[in-house]
Amino acid sequence: MKKKILELLRESEGFISGEKISEEFGVTRAAIWKNINSLKEDGYEIESISRKGYRLLSSPDILSYEEIKSYLSTQFTGRKIYYYDTIKSTNKMAKEIAHNEEEGVVIVAEEQLEGRGRLGRTWESPKKKGIYFSIILKPQVHPMKVSKLTLVGAAAVNLALEEMGVTSNIKWPNDILIKGKKVCGILTEMSSELNMINYVVMGIGINVNLDRNEIPEDLQDKATSLKIESKDEINRKKLMALILNKFEKFYLPFKEDGEILQAIEVCRKNSAVIGNEVQILNGSTKKLGRALDINDAGELVVEFTDGKIQSILSGEISIRGINGYI
Ligand code: ADP
Repeated sequence: MKKKILELLRESEGFISGEKISEEFGVTRAAIWKNINSLKEDGYEIESISRKGYRLLSSPDILSYEEIKSYLSTQFTGRKIYYYDTIKSTNKMAKEIAHNEEEGVVIVAEEQLEGRGRLGRTWESPKKKGIYFSIILKPQVHPMKVSKLTLVGAAAVNLALEEMGVTSNIKWPNDILIKGKKVCGILTEMSSELNMINYVVMGIGINVNLDRNEIPEDLQDKATSLKIESKDEINRKKLMALILNKFEKFYLPFKEDGEILQAIEVCRKNSAVIGNEVQILNGSTKKLGRALDINDAGELVVEFTDGKIQSILSGEISIRGINGYI
């Protein structure tokens, strides 16, 4: 009922009378009053004047389905969204419910208390300053193919940012950078049998409207936000929807045959590592080389200092620049 009333308020140009809302939904005036109050508690600014009715003045900056759907053009991605004000981690929640949910379901939160990066590392997720969400996927392809899916997320974020007027680069396999600093991280997790995927959860965390002093001190030299770089507040609702739109477009071929050639092309074109000297960190081992390309399997092709050329599967590998983060 609350959602329907909100919809009606949105559609009407000026005031809409309580009587009309009653007629439309067959509910009492008292029930309407209750729902309007509940919307106000959610942050909707609603004017009410006796004999005129109700008018929506403004909507809150939140990432619920109702708020992003006008920007959404997907078939199934983000068509069902679980919205949380505060949560431990969207990936954690997604993994808990994935068995009983359809592909494309999204968990989004305004704040994560235990946001995660790879290998249990932390992802700082301050309230309403970023976009933190996870997508549940159920592709019927071999589990071996899943690690390259991260590149679908990376390409989607990169192109969505471009559409919002922000140029970024992709640090294979899971980070998005602006001028060498991290603005987004992607964490892909999977549950599978030997040759069958149960589900994949892809978590995406983006630093959107953080000011410089809101970036934790120990990350100052390697993290940034869209606001810091573009010197403008960014519309989080639109950005999240654009990412989901582009994600689905790149993901559809993967469902068909496990290929993601279009996404890989974007990752190649906007790569932060191709052509650069890099350190390849794998557990405690560190090797030096030069990143040559990303092949059609989504692997990073590296020429090591001994002249050997090798393709690296994303897995748990981290890339660093020779003198710093990249
Ligand atoms: P890496 O980039 O080191 O391979 P991950 O991709 O797993 O690691 O990302 C986790 C790391 O990102 C953390 O260890 C921390 O250094 C950094 N980090 C944590 N929160 C943020 C954030 N909000 N923005 C940018 N970087 C962050």
